[in-house]
Amino acid sequence: MSKVFFKKITHEGLLKQPDCLVKGLEIAGIAEDFKKDKFVGLKIHFGEKGNKSYINPNFLIPLSNFLRRKQTRPFLFETNTLYHGERMNAVDHMNLAYGHGFAKTNMPIIIADGLKGDDYIEVEIDKKHFKTCFLARALKDTDFLLVLSHLTGHMLTGFGAAIKNLGMGCAARRGKLAQHCEMRPVVNDKRCILCGLCMKSCPVSAIEKDSTKCFIVKDKCIGCAQCISVCPRDAINVIWSEEYNLIGEKLAEYACAVTRNIKCAYVNFCLYITKECDCMNKEEAGFVKDIGLLFSYDPVAIDKASIDLAQKQENRDVIRDAHPKIDYLNHLHYAQVLGLGSMDYELVEI
Ligand code: SF4
Ligand code: SF4
Repeated sequence: MSKVFFKKITHEGLLKQPDCLVKGLEIAGIAEDFKKDKFVGLKIHFGEKGNKSYINPNFLIPLSNFLRRKQTRPFLFETNTLYHGERMNAVDHMNLAYGHGFAKTNMPIIIADGLKGDDYIEVEIDKKHFKTCFLARALKDTDFLLVLSHLTGHMLTGFGAAIKNLGMGCAARRGKLAQHCEMRPVVNDKRCILCGLCMKSCPVSAIEKDSTKCFIVKDKCIGCAQCISVCPRDAINVIWSEEYNLIGEKLAEYACAVTRNIKCAYVNFCLYITKECDCMNKEEAGFVKDIGLLFSYDPVAIDKASIDLAQKQENRDVIRDAHPKIDYLNHLHYAQVLGLGSMDYELVEI
């Protein structure tokens, strides 16, 4: 059974007492892995342009100071996105991160899969879906990865936290594409107003239109889901099938590949919890009240504990309500089968 440490706190509370993050890392024993001269990557998501719910950079200032006092070499670690937006190449991505206030953390930003997302290492895993995974090259030279994840709902996996941040967030673009390729959305003609926004957002020009309708060319579509997120009419939907749920398993295999390569620890920020993820280019209200910070060495346990706490607090199945068609525990079950961690955990309140 894995230990998950839990500090109950609100978003506002953490802004007033950001030292709680460092204290939690010390109590959980994770701070002992911050070793002198080592490259310590903080896996983060800077939030898409227009998004407001990403992890607040003010939370990270005491952690940055602490890592420097420990004489490590801390840096903010992120990868480019598969889809169009402000995070598709390292230059736009870093400018966005500065615009979102991450310069104040006083840590360098490393876009770990290079200028255009094609700098990767190949990691052999020999699992059901993948023999080889394509991970961001900078992982190879990072000594320790602290995975800082914002708990949110998610349109593909039901929710996203540590395993999503590991599996999708540490993959180079080729790896992200391999995980998405089961998904094929379709356009609902009755809702579509032919605005063309989806066509502009598609990275592979897979959406076409004639005078009466717009449609997705299946052979070209790479399943990145970008068109779904930009459509103002919710006119683009996924064809739900068993195969679709495979994305959760693929994600878990990629997460497994990362942990084979590097020692990781996890912090879940269960604050300002939105129905969709921080890739959304819009401000969204929280749909679950703030819970707090969780700390663990086990990505399966910390994600399960985060969901359990959300459900206990709201007294309902919050993820099922938000994304009713997704088997959201699928990727946790499979991650457990892969040996990534355990869904049984001991919660230690700090
Ligand atoms: S049509 Fe396919 S490739 Fe294009 S944005 Fe939509 S999901 Fe992505
Ligand atoms: S974004 Fe939505 S409404 Fe606009 S053309 Fe595409 S499917 Fe139609």
